[in-house]
Amino acid sequence: HVERATVDGPSLSFGLVNASFRDKGNMSRKLHARRIEGIDKNIWVEFSQLAADYKAVNLGQGFPDFSPPHFIQEAFCKALNGGFSKHQYTRAFGHPNLVKILAKFFSRIVGREIDPMEDILVSVGAYQALFCTFQALIDEGDEVIIVEPFFDCYQPMVMMAGGTAIYVPLKPREGCGPVLSSADWVLSPEELASKFSPRTKAIVINTPNNPLGKVYQQEELHMIADLCIKHDVICISDEVYEWLTYDGTKHVKIASLPGMWERTVTIGSAGKTFSATGWKVGWAMGPGHILKHLKTVHQNSVYHCATAAQEAVAVGFQREYDVFGTEGSYFQQLPKHLHEKRLRLADCLKSVGLKPVLPQGGYFMIADISNLNVDLADPSTKDEPYDYRFVKWLIKEKGLATIPVSAFFSPEHKDEFQKYIRFCFVKEDSTLQAAEDILRQWSDSK
Ligand code: PMP
Ligand code: GLN
Repeated sequence: HVERATVDGPSLSFGLVNASFRDKGNMSRKLHARRIEGIDKNIWVEFSQLAADYKAVNLGQGFPDFSPPHFIQEAFCKALNGGFSKHQYTRAFGHPNLVKILAKFFSRIVGREIDPMEDILVSVGAYQALFCTFQALIDEGDEVIIVEPFFDCYQPMVMMAGGTAIYVPLKPREGCGPVLSSADWVLSPEELASKFSPRTKAIVINTPNNPLGKVYQQEELHMIADLCIKHDVICISDEVYEWLTYDGTKHVKIASLPGMWERTVTIGSAGKTFSATGWKVGWAMGPGHILKHLKTVHQNSVYHCATAAQEAVAVGFQREYDVFGTEGSYFQQLPKHLHEKRLRLADCLKSVGLKPVLPQGGYFMIADISNLNVDLADPSTKDEPYDYRFVKWLIKEKGLATIPVSAFFSPEHKDEFQKYIRFCFVKEDSTLQAAEDILRQWSDSK
């Protein structure tokens, strides 16, 4: 089995949506609201379509091309066959079975009592948890500090809420020689401190980071926490890859640091946790005095998400609670499985002349492409950043899909980060092998 990008799902709807934007029928007035100006392009829509058009071997969009563990598939089937109630509405802010076990599970991790009814909101994937967070907490004139590289939706979500994004980049540590690990990418404490102003309402961090794989260390989190407390700022911590860390690296929740629970919203995803991205179950967790505002957005937009999927995730978390810390835990098995794939991909990339940055966490790896010297003659992409052009060339000419890393930087800093592309390694060995074959063949033909 080799995962090649396909045309179902996003590609079809992309065509329809675009057609309807172009065709205004007999309406002459401006149709769209100001809040969506400048955010109509989307990296996932664009590159998933292109990968599908060329049936490329797909190391682009981040999802496993293998099934979720059996116990959770069985739980879903059981939920579907479990009578009428699993097919009907459930509690708006989270199916009771799910919020109860999430609270129990994460109380143990965070080291405090989490209230299932007050401190958790279950959402349609981490995406909707993020959307509710920004809509609920950010007003016009508010500034939100975003650490780059960042998962691309943070910026449009801040903007749609009326806020202003203020960027601060993680950068390769100066004088550290070749950049070999995501741990070499660091924040400058002085630069970060300089971004806080009286208008700063929140900061967004993502650990383990997509696309870099950086896992913030305790000292780095303390530095961020001190600034949040000093300036009375909310911390939004996107931790969807929290179970995926390698080589003994520990994931630390910033919400567990002193003084941080009451000002932190932690975002999670069952899609990432149980290798079931299509289920779209996510959550926001934090103190009731913040969460109640997210619930206001949720109850007036989505109201609640699929009952059967929530029930299945609840069963999955109960199982993980029971086997936590043992070899039977999926939260141990998945990173162990991915560790091998990560080393394999890194070796392959090195052998064809790319310079991979080994991630400490997550399931992506970025690689420096600057010494490849490919002649990108395609005139249709000539005004685009170098990494976009390279990725398009790789899809069209070689049949391999990846993602350009400058997509994870702000317009201000994009230019400085055009020499990396992102590979996803949560893939079957056969898919990784197919990618390896493509890269090796190309390298041999040079
Ligand atoms: N945050 C990050 C960092 C992500 O990579 C993703 C993509 N899975 C999301 C949030 C959204 O997650 P979900 O699929 O659960 O909506
Ligand atoms: N989070 C996934 C990634 O980074 C996919 C996001 C999406 O498809 N919208 O690849």
